[in-house]
Amino acid sequence: MNRWNIPKDLEIKIINRDKSCVYCHSEFNKKSYKELATWEHIDNNAKNISKDNIVLCCTSCNASKGIKMLPEWFNNPYCQKKKINKDTVTSIVKKSIESSD
Ligand SMILES: [Zn+2]
Repeated sequence: MNRWNIPKDLEIKIINRDKSCVYCHSEFNKKSYKELATWEHIDNNAKNISKDNIVLCCTSCNASKGIKMLPEWFNNPYCQKKKINKDTVTSIVKKSIESSD
């Protein structure tokens, strides 16, 4: 388990799936992985530990999103500037948006 209580096998699955930020698509390479990639709970619920709620995103997206919910965050200047919205995010995030509608 890492510090987010994510079991190792799930952690490996997610690392292998999310090769770039799920929001802005900036790529994590092996060198930058540790400094760039951060664990993100899409619904901000740290107890919701599943491969559909835990994703990797870059430090700047994570810092900007904070505890905002996605629809609110998409209206934020950061997302507007980077053109991040429900149509540009990865399928995992889209699925989460659809299921919370
Ligand atoms: Zn990002």
